[in-house]
Amino acid sequence: MIWTIRSMFFVLLTSLTVWTAQAGWGNGGHHGGQGWQQQSLTVEEEEQLLYLREEEKVARDVYDLMYLLWGLPAFDNISAAEQRHMDAVLQIIDRYGLIDSAHSQPGIFNNPELQALYDSLVAQGEQSLIEALLVGALIEEVDLQDLNEMMASTDNGTLMGLYKKLHCGSRNHLRSFVRQIENRGMVYEAQVLSQGEVDKIVDSPMERRCGAGGSGRSR
Ligand code: ZN
Ligand code: ZN
Repeated sequence: MIWTIRSMFFVLLTSLTVWTAQAGWGNGGHHGGQGWQQQSLTVEEEEQLLYLREEEKVARDVYDLMYLLWGLPAFDNISAAEQRHMDAVLQIIDRYGLIDSAHSQPGIFNNPELQALYDSLVAQGEQSLIEALLVGALIEEVDLQDLNEMMASTDNGTLMGLYKKLHCGSRNHLRSFVRQIENRGMVYEAQVLSQGEVDKIVDSPMERRCGAGGSGRSR
């Protein structure tokens, strides 16, 4: 009898674990030991997550400023998507009990490389609308390249899900910026990725759903 109850409890616990994992739960209050164990992160994976959070902030802050300067709705829409990307990264940071290092103020970054990147992107984007659009495409290419590297160096399912979702969003953003550039009579040339990789993305249609279990929005 006792064994049966214990078995039933185990089965219940197992199905709860699966359900919890599928529902994408974990609001930072559970760091293992409460019925389900999550795969622990390597130091490299922890650093990548914190970096990614600030990298998404670079995108959001640049697009906010470009919208103020040029009034093009695409910047506003894509900035809102970057906020959702920042939120998605923060959710995982919290789930693993890491300390979020992103600054609350726009245009300020703890990572000196990202601060320098932001400053140079803003200086370029202030010059003209076309430069601002090229900056947008550059940001998305850099994001895609970094995500490619992060995906190649992890076997953590939670991180892989996050990276895939952000990669999909960035592919759509790159499509938007390149379309805006080419609508203005320019031919877009890859800035960071190979021309082949950029062409493959840009020549394929916008993706409606980025990330399983997401909101269903394309960006
Ligand atoms: Zn993003
Ligand atoms: Zn983006």
